[in-house]
Amino acid sequence: MNFDYRLLRVDLTTEKTKIEEISIDLLKEYIGGKGLGSKLLLDELEPGIDPLGPKNKIIFVSGPLTGTVFPTSNRYGIIYKSPLTGAFAESYSGGGAVQKMRAAGYFTIIIEGISKRPIYLFITESSVEFRDASHLWGKDTLETYDLLGIKSKKDIDVLVIGPAGENKVKFANIQNNKHHSAGRCGPGAVMGSKKLKAIIFSGTKRPALNKNLEFRKLVKKVINKIHDREDLYGSNGIYRKLGTPSIVEWTNELGCFPTRYFTAGYSEYSKNFDAYAIINQILKKRTGCWNCPFTCSKYVEVEEGPFKCNLEGPEYETIAVFGGICDIRDIKAIAKLNEYCDRMGIDTITAGNLCGLAIEAKHLGILPNNNKFKLDYNKPLELLKFLNDIVYRKGIGNDFAEGIKYISKKYHLEDIAMHVKGLEFPGYDPRAFRGFAISYGVSPEGATHLRSTFHNIERNLPDYLSYENKVAPMIEQEDKMALIDSLIVCKFIRDILDWDLFAEIYNVIFNAKINKDKIRNIASEIITLSRKFNIREGFSRKDDYMPSRVYKESITTKYGKKLNLDYDKYDKMLDEYYSLRGWTKEGIPKE
Ligand code: SF4
Repeated sequence: MNFDYRLLRVDLTTEKTKIEEISIDLLKEYIGGKGLGSKLLLDELEPGIDPLGPKNKIIFVSGPLTGTVFPTSNRYGIIYKSPLTGAFAESYSGGGAVQKMRAAGYFTIIIEGISKRPIYLFITESSVEFRDASHLWGKDTLETYDLLGIKSKKDIDVLVIGPAGENKVKFANIQNNKHHSAGRCGPGAVMGSKKLKAIIFSGTKRPALNKNLEFRKLVKKVINKIHDREDLYGSNGIYRKLGTPSIVEWTNELGCFPTRYFTAGYSEYSKNFDAYAIINQILKKRTGCWNCPFTCSKYVEVEEGPFKCNLEGPEYETIAVFGGICDIRDIKAIAKLNEYCDRMGIDTITAGNLCGLAIEAKHLGILPNNNKFKLDYNKPLELLKFLNDIVYRKGIGNDFAEGIKYISKKYHLEDIAMHVKGLEFPGYDPRAFRGFAISYGVSPEGATHLRSTFHNIERNLPDYLSYENKVAPMIEQEDKMALIDSLIVCKFIRDILDWDLFAEIYNVIFNAKINKDKIRNIASEIITLSRKFNIREGFSRKDDYMPSRVYKESITTKYGKKLNLDYDKYDKMLDEYYSLRGWTKEGIPKE
């Protein structure tokens, strides 16, 4: 059996495992990562199953580049049916844990069934152990990490859930390498529903690709391309020097920085929490994921006071939701909220959005015990208490733990709730974009920025607010991201990856001879898989629209410009998107 492409199937109900070989033909068709995971989910999941029941599967995927010397090959993916949205879901995280998954000899792991007791898995090159996790149940992610002794052991790494996952909070994350999160659509809740607290990987295997001379030449070429982009990846480049918090500046200028629950497009207090606020107030050292030549992350510490904490972060999205949506005007408080979310294992984007929605609902006077509800803008300590109520499902927190679709319906908040398919917006208000708004709409998970990252291209176009000629370039970017997530590498190297290079990478991995048109077709097919999954689950064209506020209500930029989205023009763009994808007018892929 080819050790590089093994699939481990773990049945938690029976505590039995099975090792299968993934055929090279399947990999040539779907590459790995997102492509392989989507194919497996579509083929193996019964339609309409309960995402928190025994029939949901968590598919941990690596890509053919994972664990190799290829720069940023440190990421893994999780493919599953989301308990938050009921739709297809994918979550990715970098760090180093997946390198150990491949070192243990597994390319993909499928977890199915439900354990009778809290357990953790210990996966090595020669065995899979089902270990009792009763002493870990209830512990936060960092405590669990320490109790498992991960810090002191070489060749070992772990994926963990926190109390939120155990309590099936529908936006619970899976954490790795302490502050790295795979989240957004609730993979931690799926893991918690299976009573699986953690997965430890241990091994020493290295992918055979590392020894391939053609591959090593290719890696050298990629590294040279990275070095050529000093402006992005050099020691004074945007990623290394400032990291994602640098985004605060341009989103605030453009009027898409979501502020006070999407009632404004910029914050007057942005200097309090931008990249320089981090550098000047809390930065301890620069850090990053395994095998990354330009490490974008920051290790920060607040040494004393109510916001005492230390963590890797905060990244832009966390700043946008807490600093913008919740109007917290202090980077130390934002860091504390970030650390709390990491410890409990919840997604910061959804957490900040739900806090903002709760504040607006309170202002409207429609929450139970409304007068006693102390949550408000710029009240970080109240936010921490509210998040704690969500994590432990206390009082109204129990409703918020179910996610935005549930709350909107229960409290009649449909007119103000900002989400697509039940997933809230990250740090870019859709009213400031056209092509990117379509990307939010058609993404299988809902309002995520990660399926196309088209905002980065659209914002630099001279006619960035035009509705014309946006769909085709957005699709191109969506296809690129599908390949990045299938190979799997960090999205921050997207600027050096063009279609020729994608084809070259594919050809070296699979000893093939395809051209750039063929690799593009593969990407497009991968995207169609998740669409097919959603159609089977009952999603349709109606689920690809923005929330009503986006069409009816304008936001104002720093410079007094009013921005909203024209419904009819959006509708036309949606037609164009389906047509270019080769789908029907209802958005259904043709066979
Ligand atoms: S650029 Fe940042 S997120 Fe990407 S691999 Fe490097 S350190 Fe990790």
